[in-house]
Amino acid sequence: MPTHLDRAYAEQLDADDPLAGYRRCFLAPEPGLIYLDGNSLGRLPVAAVAASRDLVERQWGQRLIRSWNEGWFALPETIGDRIGRLVGAGAGEVLVADSTSTNLFKLVVAALQAQPGRHRILTDDLNFPSDVYILHGIAELLGRGHQLEVIPSSDGIHGPVGSLAAACDGDTALVVLSHTVFKSGYTYDMAEVTRAVHASGARMLWDLSHSAGAVPVDLRAAGADLAVGCTYKYLNGGPGAPAFLYVRRELQERLANPIGGWMGHSAPFAFDLAYRPAAGLRRFLTGTPPVASLSLVAPGVDMLLEAGMEALRAKSLRQTGYLIDLFDARLADAGYRLNSPRDPARRGSHISLGHDEALRIDQALIGEFGVLPDFRRPDNIRLGIAPLYTSFCDLYDAVMALHRIAAGRLYEAYPVEAPQVT
Ligand SMILES: *Cc1c(COP(=O)(O)O)cnc(C)c1O
Repeated sequence: MPTHLDRAYAEQLDADDPLAGYRRCFLAPEPGLIYLDGNSLGRLPVAAVAASRDLVERQWGQRLIRSWNEGWFALPETIGDRIGRLVGAGAGEVLVADSTSTNLFKLVVAALQAQPGRHRILTDDLNFPSDVYILHGIAELLGRGHQLEVIPSSDGIHGPVGSLAAACDGDTALVVLSHTVFKSGYTYDMAEVTRAVHASGARMLWDLSHSAGAVPVDLRAAGADLAVGCTYKYLNGGPGAPAFLYVRRELQERLANPIGGWMGHSAPFAFDLAYRPAAGLRRFLTGTPPVASLSLVAPGVDMLLEAGMEALRAKSLRQTGYLIDLFDARLADAGYRLNSPRDPARRGSHISLGHDEALRIDQALIGEFGVLPDFRRPDNIRLGIAPLYTSFCDLYDAVMALHRIAAGRLYEAYPVEAPQVT
């Protein structure tokens, strides 16, 4: 019987994996490449290649402007509804538009304008910096004395749940958190935190960029007010694919889009100079949707829906657990640190490993072993697990490479400066 330290064990886990067949649904032009960056840029679904050809050659090339009435105009909603099914939203509660950062701006301004008597905005220091920049910018722009408070995590890994709940008071307008944080992969208990925030009368906004398609999310069950998220990570929508936003149905008519453009107008082709917001969520559109990249979001989402979040989560937990077992056996005494939670309930779908030489190890992984992770300062090697296509052998081989690089000091051959994109 092979033990978990043998490659044969990983091969057996792959043979028993009910989702293994999905690996063939993604392009893999380099068979030896171990791709552990699906949390930054998901692989290309084979179905997206056909969809892009249809979009360019038929919809654009042949049908030309007629395509707007043959599906393009409704795409932000039709694809939004499919993403909604992945994150526990109802029909008409998710819209695809703009970037995550822009959607965050729109929803945060809308939420703050709707609560004129409250001034505090809370987030944590594990949040994605872009989100924090946007929050700072809004407080300055509105000029109404809004205060952003960044609640610190005690260890840089786990979310400060207790201090966040304690910080919520009658002057708190909004709490903004990444549901799964980008460095450690810690995942908040959405229902628990939302309940604590609501107890103070504040609104809750979740950034689902590292959760959508990776961990089960039930926005409605949690009572979440607002959410944003990205489609190019676990949803495999392609580089720079447009993002999504969620507004709980009960709030939609009460919130105003601060960049209300013609696409969010109730009658865009009336060309009336007076702005009248569309009914429902469509008011959160601004300009013309990026049809080409928007179309390519559907194939990845459809595959995730077909596989089912429950099966995806089960495999992801088996894989992150397996990776931690291998870490304990092979990496802990080679100078690596586990920068992710051990509690499976609090774990997203990536594992971060720290090492004093993390940056050079990352480059050795890419340069010598054909392993593609990513690197986040100061010391995180992030191993992203996309349960649709990551295999147990990928994880085994990556850990053995990490072990060899550290034990043999192979990283010494690599420069200490970082490339532009890590
Ligand atoms: C990836 C990511 C984003 C990306 O924002 P863009 O505006 O699409 O560049 C935002 N927030 C979080 C938490 C992310 O992980």
